[in-house]
Amino acid sequence: MVKTPIKVIVRTRPTVEFAYKNININENTGHIAINIPKSADQGFVNHQQEDWGFTFDKVLQNASQEVVFDICGKELIHSALGGYSGTIMAYGQTGAGKTFTMMGSQIDYKYRGMMPRCISLLFQEIEARYEQQITVGVSYLEIYNEMMYDLLAGGDQNTGLAIQEDNNGYVQVKGLTIKKCQTEEDAIAQLFEGETNRTISEHKLNKASSRSHCVFTVHLEIRSRVESAEKVIISKLNLVDLAGSERTKKTGSEGRTLLEAQFINKSLSFLEQVVVALSEKQRDHIPYRQSKLTNLLKDSIGGNSKTVMIANIWPEKNQLEETISTLKFAQRMMKV
Ligand code: ADP
Ligand code: MG
Repeated sequence: MVKTPIKVIVRTRPTVEFAYKNININENTGHIAINIPKSADQGFVNHQQEDWGFTFDKVLQNASQEVVFDICGKELIHSALGGYSGTIMAYGQTGAGKTFTMMGSQIDYKYRGMMPRCISLLFQEIEARYEQQITVGVSYLEIYNEMMYDLLAGGDQNTGLAIQEDNNGYVQVKGLTIKKCQTEEDAIAQLFEGETNRTISEHKLNKASSRSHCVFTVHLEIRSRVESAEKVIISKLNLVDLAGSERTKKTGSEGRTLLEAQFINKSLSFLEQVVVALSEKQRDHIPYRQSKLTNLLKDSIGGNSKTVMIANIWPEKNQLEETISTLKFAQRMMKV
């Protein structure tokens, strides 16, 4: 049996009215049972099934940011420092808590998300590693309608960015700003700067952030201080806030919104295809090239790299359909 190349964790967002009657979560076994009432509203007609069962590596209900980081983030920082790249992605419908999970509060320390917490731990670890000289660079880009925007360069131009792969299979984005950071504060400042640029360009270009994939990447160069060798180990960690996975018909969209939805559906389905292909024995044809997102993550997903997907769900009665859709996707990602 081939090992699942991805660890899948489900996180619920807090809600005023948890759908107790419909959703049963067992945090010990990672099992989620969902029941769709027979006399369901229109939204449910597409499901022939009434009862659903899913099992994940872990289900986190009402978990704090700290707990989510301990389970999903810590290990990948250590891997990255050991030279193994990684990716943490948040998946789910708009409103399910992806941005809260990845970015969290920029003001309240307690509610900081995965991105700032990864930065903090990284610099703590670097300080403790006297025998190594580690250089940190960060980049932040947004993929909207299959176009890339550099969030550390204003975020409203997409000219000149191109995904390239070197002879060692290391993926780089030509033209993308990588800011060197000496301290945790430097890196956090870049992250927040990127956030600000994202908001500004959102207004300027009239694009909704829930409709784009945002990728914050920490680039590491690790040199030994003790060995004389010129050997440099490079690795990176991608922290990805994916576009909302909700299906189009719900919003009855047309024109621009429809176009956005088509791009999102395609790129999320290519992401799934890549992960499924990685878990199969035949690994010759992993379809990375089909979208910017998979192309970008090519060297940090599968192989020796570690990948964590956090499936965010909104456990409310009127969100049941999207919840099932998210869990189905997440379950397929775990399939061996
Ligand atoms: P998404 O990015 O998936 O569209 P958000 O992260 O913006 O969703 O979350 C929607 C709302 O729910 C926000 O107001 C956010 O602060 C809140 N929220 C989501 N998850 C949590 C959580 N675990 N704890 C507290 N508030 C949350
Ligand atoms: Mg969001």
